[in-house]
Amino acid sequence: MTRRTEDALIVGGGLAGLSCAITLAEHGLRVRVIEAAPRLGGRAGSFFEPRMGQWIDQGPHLLIGAYRHTLDLLRRCNAEHLVHWQSSLQLPLWDPQRGRFALHPSPRLPLAIALPRALAMLPGHSFASVPAMLRLRFGQAGTHETVVQWLQRVRAPHELVRDFLEPLCLAAMNEHMDTANARSFQRVLVTAFANHAHARLGWFRQPLGLCIETLAKHARSLGVCITTHTQINGVSHRAGMTVLRSQRGEEFRAPHAVATVPPWHQHRLSAPVATPASNPITNIHLWFDEQLRLPYPFIGGLGTQGQWFFDVSAQTRQRSTGSHLCVVISAFHAGNKRTLVDQACSELARIMERKKLPEPCHSRVVCVRRATVLVRPHLPPNLPTGIVDSMEHPAPGQLPATIEYAIERGKQGAERVLARCQH
Ligand SMILES: Cc1cc2nc3c(=O)[nH]c(=O)nc-3n(C[C@H](O)[C@H](O)[C@H](O)COP(=O)(O)OP(=O)(O)OC[C@H]3O[C@@H](n4cnc5c(N)ncnc54)[C@H](O)[C@@H]3O)c2cc1C
Repeated sequence: MTRRTEDALIVGGGLAGLSCAITLAEHGLRVRVIEAAPRLGGRAGSFFEPRMGQWIDQGPHLLIGAYRHTLDLLRRCNAEHLVHWQSSLQLPLWDPQRGRFALHPSPRLPLAIALPRALAMLPGHSFASVPAMLRLRFGQAGTHETVVQWLQRVRAPHELVRDFLEPLCLAAMNEHMDTANARSFQRVLVTAFANHAHARLGWFRQPLGLCIETLAKHARSLGVCITTHTQINGVSHRAGMTVLRSQRGEEFRAPHAVATVPPWHQHRLSAPVATPASNPITNIHLWFDEQLRLPYPFIGGLGTQGQWFFDVSAQTRQRSTGSHLCVVISAFHAGNKRTLVDQACSELARIMERKKLPEPCHSRVVCVRRATVLVRPHLPPNLPTGIVDSMEHPAPGQLPATIEYAIERGKQGAERVLARCQH
């Protein structure tokens, strides 16, 4: 069966695909998004947890105020209310020796002064970090340098690395400092700490899948057709048209097509290609009958196995009784699930200053094996003629693979299609 001709076909219905579709439809193009899964969202999607009767994300997502493409897309979709933003940066931390403390630069001072001051005031820190911070800001990180090499070169003090740069590198790059690319990490630091509005953190007030539905609803209102349950696994080019073939033998044709699939699925659209390096993220979801509240919506752990401890109930206000907490470990592949749950409960108990937590009424360890593509020198994609590349493959100096990167890549793909339309 051959479908009617659209102006553009978008393969993949994650954030990159939706960003691309919405941008093209805003310019009056007839667009179809073709998604392999039953639901849109990709890695930013949610799944139904039957035991708790809830939609949950594979893992909680944090945003930063510097995500300008994300903010712009949410504004265009009238969806800004979906994100809760801190009024200014507050980064709560915990470690076994110092207990709870927070990095909270004064919003009354310019961030360039407030941030070094707040760092110097953390327990065990001093103003000795200030010259290193200036070198981090104004020196150029090497394109092929790792974060560890760069931090050694600028003589970053140990406490600044341990309490600030290392957790930030893992969170932003999903990669440990000994292999993460310094040039991209510097880009994160410079962009995120440009001013107070950029530096604040945000989180979704609802499970991501519901937020994605809001974006999809807006896309549909602009005329975008969305086809789910349809995996594209063949591409050809005939008489100026790109023809996409699904696993069920359906054909979709249009003068333009954009690939927003993760690069490890690129082989479905082209000849086999080398799989790019990626890292996992492990999320330990815990539900308790008792109302257990973290003192903050999330806390960063130092010297703990869990890196970020999220109070999902507080963030999404989903359960009125009981509580849902989630412990996130970046760049980590889940091993023994029972051990992970026990360790997460023990660390949470210490953070909450309790002897022991009650036994969770339910737990689920979600390990996303390929959570993000790592920043590596750019390999040209091997896509068939006529398909625009909006896939995730961040190169040194670009932002790492995040929501922001996906939305920017989708928009760039749309701009390339629009430029082709003008010729
Ligand atoms: C656990 C976890 C935590 C994260 N935390 C954060 C965070 O805190 N902050 C942040 O900014 N980012 C975070 N990220 C990263 C962010 O979720 C991703 O970078 C982003 O969602 C990627 O979007 P995408 O559209 O590029 O790709 P995807 O979301 O992977 O979408 C691609 C879509 O293409 C579909 N597809 C694949 N092959 C085909 C085919 N042949 N035909 C049709 N469809 C196909 C897939 O089903 C998928 O829906 C996290 C990711 C994970 C997994």
